[in-house]
Amino acid sequence: MPDPSDFARQLALLRQSFVAELPARMAAMAAEVEALRAGRAEAVAELHHLAHNMAGTAGSFGYPELGAQSRALETHLKPWAAAGRRPDPERLDEALWLFDLLRAMAAAVSVPDGGAAEDLAEACGATAGRRVHLVSQDDRDAALADQLRHFGFAVTCCPDEMTARREAHAQGPDAWLIDVDLAGSPGAGIALGQSLGAAGTAPLLFLSSRDDLDDRLAAARAGGVAYFVQPLDAMQLVDRLDGLLGCRADEPYRILVVDDDRLLAERSAMVLGAASMQAEWAQNAPAALRKLEELRPDLVLMDLHMPGCSGMELARVIRQYDAHVGLPIVYLSSEADLDSQFAAMAAGGDDFLTKPISDRHLVLAVRARAARARQIRLLTDTDSLTGLLKHGRIKERLSAELARSARTGRPLAFAMLDIDHFKRINDGHGHAIGDRVIKSLAMLLKQRLRQSDHIGRWGGEEFAVVLTECDPEQARDMLDGLRGRFADLRFSGPGGEFSVTLSAGVASSQGHGDPSGLVNAADAALYRAKTGGRDRVVVDGDAPA
Ligand code: GH3
Ligand code: MG
Ligand code: MG
Repeated sequence: MPDPSDFARQLALLRQSFVAELPARMAAMAAEVEALRAGRAEAVAELHHLAHNMAGTAGSFGYPELGAQSRALETHLKPWAAAGRRPDPERLDEALWLFDLLRAMAAAVSVPDGGAAEDLAEACGATAGRRVHLVSQDDRDAALADQLRHFGFAVTCCPDEMTARREAHAQGPDAWLIDVDLAGSPGAGIALGQSLGAAGTAPLLFLSSRDDLDDRLAAARAGGVAYFVQPLDAMQLVDRLDGLLGCRADEPYRILVVDDDRLLAERSAMVLGAASMQAEWAQNAPAALRKLEELRPDLVLMDLHMPGCSGMELARVIRQYDAHVGLPIVYLSSEADLDSQFAAMAAGGDDFLTKPISDRHLVLAVRARAARARQIRLLTDTDSLTGLLKHGRIKERLSAELARSARTGRPLAFAMLDIDHFKRINDGHGHAIGDRVIKSLAMLLKQRLRQSDHIGRWGGEEFAVVLTECDPEQARDMLDGLRGRFADLRFSGPGGEFSVTLSAGVASSQGHGDPSGLVNAADAALYRAKTGGRDRVVVDGDAPA
């Protein structure tokens, strides 16, 4: 999560912009009022639209009275705007009076004190940490700590109770890993876990050299959520910790905010951004459709009333694309009329939030819906063993990123990875252990590559990665680092302990502009890595070894 004080500062800046733009908004409304006075009927629709926008915006920026007054004007004008007629003289007088009042209130506006940041902090929640305190004297656990570090955990080794207590005091961990027989004394680790009261704050996991029911029971009573028996499978532990602490490699939810009011669009995006979502905004239909392709949002937050193309119309257009049939569209509008809300839902919307909405409620509502949409998409787009993109999906990403790279002029790299002599692992240790090796590489890829990269399971024990904004040499470094880390992992199976290597081939958009050319070049480079001796990275264009 960004620094809350930074958020408050940005919010204050946006609020200042709102106040700074207020005279211009009022002047625009005043011009329409003058036109109305002069007898021009079209002005009523425009004035209604401006009042509608102000009703939603003012409340969101912390000026509820101004918002309510705008709403009164909007409601008053609504029947005339719908009919496209100039109000009757009596109604016109009333509208002018409402406007005068609004103008007086706007003139009195000043920037209020902040406070929204705290309101939001509660809804954001802290980002999951990966600090693990390992309390053990067992030599095997030093190697375990190294394995965990490969997967991005910050491991602190505590050889005894004293150290554990000191470290807990200095900085509490996100998870405890405690040897049941600490310091050779049976059950001492369980007692320590219980007394640390760790179960209440950080999950408590126990390691033991015996699979003993009494110990398991004692561990469970002490609040232990897991009990691992030595020799330990590090990957199983990583898997469990990822589940408990939340995998850092999880991408943030991507939200597209569509609102013709720039300040409000920017503000909503900022609020969602502060809650660790990746939010971008668009002010009109063409920009929204462009962003849809680039951002691939989990959810669209859509204003209802926009000039040119309404939110409802845009929702219909979005639904015309097969790829976006399931995309959740949530209207965020100051439309209070239930009939209009239902009509908007019938046009392909999924939900309705009414402006002004508190930041906290906006975050909670958007996050819950984005999470569900993400879950559904994970089921259809990703491979069940590894959680990586399926073959077809990674190819789609490659095409989209290649098009973007051509537009921006920034290169991308495509790499194919293949586990070396994988058949021997299956033959020597069984298919299940083979699966675990595949899964470990997938976890390592997710952990080590950037969030802007795309990772797919090409098939079997082959993987494909799209590295965005990356030249061939950067790609070589990144993949070679990954190769080294993978080779360092220790696996255990029925055939004993073993380690595995991988080979990779890399090609760049600088040499190949079309997806199939790029794939073929990477595949050819991978073939050279294999024939050159495996356990290496070859970049398309490298001189023969
Ligand atoms: P090389 O170094 O040349 O890549 O040798 P290799 O043995 O890794 O390559 P090969 O393509 O000959 O063998 C791949 C094996 O991977 C064959 C297949 O049975 C196995 N495999 C494919 N998918 C899976 C899977 O999902 N799980 C497991 N356990 N094995 C798989
Ligand atoms: Mg292989
Ligand atoms: Mg293969």
